[in-house]
Amino acid sequence: MRRRKIYGWGYEDEILTAEENQELEAKWGPYFGVDQFEPRPAPTLDEIELRKPRVTPPGSLSSICSTELYDRAFHSYGTSLRDSIRAFQRDFTNPPDVVAYPNTENDIHALMDWCGDESIALTPFGGGTSVVDGVEPPKDGYKGSLSLDMANFNKVVEIDETSLAARIQGGIKGLDLEAQLKPHGLTMRHYMQSYALSTFGGWIATRSSGHFATVYTHIDDMVENIRTVTPEGVIESRRLPGSGAGPSPDRMILGSEGSLGIITEAWTRVHRRPTHRASASVLFDDFYTAAEAVRTISQAGLHPANCRVVDETETQVAGAGDGTQSMLALSFESAHHPVDHWLTLALECCADHGGHPIPEADETARRGGAAGKYRNYFIRLPFHRDFMTPRAILGETFETAITWDRLPEFHAKVVAETEAAVRDVTGGKAYVTCRFTHIYPDGPAPYFTWRGLGRWDSMLDQHAEIRKRAGDIVNELGGTVTHHHAVGRLHRPWYDQQRPDLFADAYTAAKQRLDPNGIMNPGMIVG
Ligand SMILES: Cc1cc2nc3c(=O)[nH]c(=O)nc-3n(C[C@H](O)[C@H](O)[C@H](O)COP(=O)(O)OP(=O)(O)OC[C@H]3O[C@@H](n4cnc5c(N)ncnc54)[C@H](O)[C@@H]3O)c2cc1C
Repeated sequence: MRRRKIYGWGYEDEILTAEENQELEAKWGPYFGVDQFEPRPAPTLDEIELRKPRVTPPGSLSSICSTELYDRAFHSYGTSLRDSIRAFQRDFTNPPDVVAYPNTENDIHALMDWCGDESIALTPFGGGTSVVDGVEPPKDGYKGSLSLDMANFNKVVEIDETSLAARIQGGIKGLDLEAQLKPHGLTMRHYMQSYALSTFGGWIATRSSGHFATVYTHIDDMVENIRTVTPEGVIESRRLPGSGAGPSPDRMILGSEGSLGIITEAWTRVHRRPTHRASASVLFDDFYTAAEAVRTISQAGLHPANCRVVDETETQVAGAGDGTQSMLALSFESAHHPVDHWLTLALECCADHGGHPIPEADETARRGGAAGKYRNYFIRLPFHRDFMTPRAILGETFETAITWDRLPEFHAKVVAETEAAVRDVTGGKAYVTCRFTHIYPDGPAPYFTWRGLGRWDSMLDQHAEIRKRAGDIVNELGGTVTHHHAVGRLHRPWYDQQRPDLFADAYTAAKQRLDPNGIMNPGMIVG
């Protein structure tokens, strides 16, 4: 069976090509003034010694539990920069004691009973693509820790082609989900950047956002019901297209990050596969006029599937521009009707704000042009960390949302403060870029990326300091701590300031009712 890397994105056989390494070397060496990087080697299993398991599963659970070195090392972390730094530095000091692979809900109940009886922290594990310390066990307070991997809940169970909906198990990865829907001419199109490795249950647990820039953005707006196994029993909501019956049970589970129970399955809306598409790339001399153009598009009731504004620096870093212009990648799609007219209208909005569409001939069937280059860069980006971390290059992202009226000041201050933080902490060059991943009529979801050259022995502290300053400024200016990366442990300091205290008390009371022994993913959301 193909194994995932223990130190980064993808499978063990998915590594950067020699050509990619050369290109990255040629890009980042001169930028940071380094003649020759001296990369640290990636960690291998035989170098890793884990603490002995502190707990042993009872015989009745042993067939679904593992204490193998690989299983425990892989389930120690998610896929964030912090995780990659710790893995490259061979720091596996807090692995789960046991990894379980349940096959049925009864297995999950039995695992929960064991954890409750023995004071073992239980961390649900979907695809392990968390970038917010969401899947690592708590450091203390428990006799042991269990990572519960949902890999065997991997099926599309039922399809309702009349209503265009599907009942899907929580542990299925995006790639497998799409493969199982495809023979029915259906798709979920929840193409988040991590969709290949992340899971349906993980998406619900973290309130993920996918491919659609407008309308069907959050998973919240797709699920019809959710089935969750908690230590105190099952919560399953009625499957409905909509309901005004009191507070929604689904809304309590969405974003609960494993703190209340395990999402074993849900019904979700699906779509017919699109057959009509129209797309264009538009250049703007100024990021804020590009923002004005997409505000107009969104408020005009045009609903592009993709509406990604990328600022001039990020366009350049991606090899898709010369650093003087921002780019808007715009596309419409439908399984039902031609969408060229919609694109024409959106391009008129762009023209009103000085946007110049890149002539189609220059886009050379999209793949070779600016949008195509950006797309290829975007797809390979998660692998670039395998180049960056061992060379002490700090490369991190954070995302938020803000209303249009506050955007210019918010954007300018967040970029300036983050750039200053990277310079102060690393003492060297830094840059911060921004793109909009999702667009609402009342505001965008800006996604920031920063880079600087760190010091190998203090990368974790450097990252924490920069992250703190970036988080503080977003919070101070009224943005959200996260638009779609979830809270985890990483975002807790700002989440605790953002959410009302009384709400936290109410959530804690709900958690106590569902999880009286406090075993479910401790430290997430409350506590
Ligand atoms: C390169 C990269 C790109 C990304 N791009 C996006 C993006 O475009 N959009 C986006 O929204 N996010 C993105 N993310 C973040 C991440 O992929 C999402 O948070 C995703 O939803 C996590 O799913 P997962 O299955 O990997 O969950 P995990 O990482 O395994 O878990 C995440 C959290 O959910 C809990 N959990 C997992 N499964 C269950 C379950 N069945 N029941 C209860 N709790 C559960 C875990 O305990 C944990 O707290 C990206 C991450 C990476 C590394």
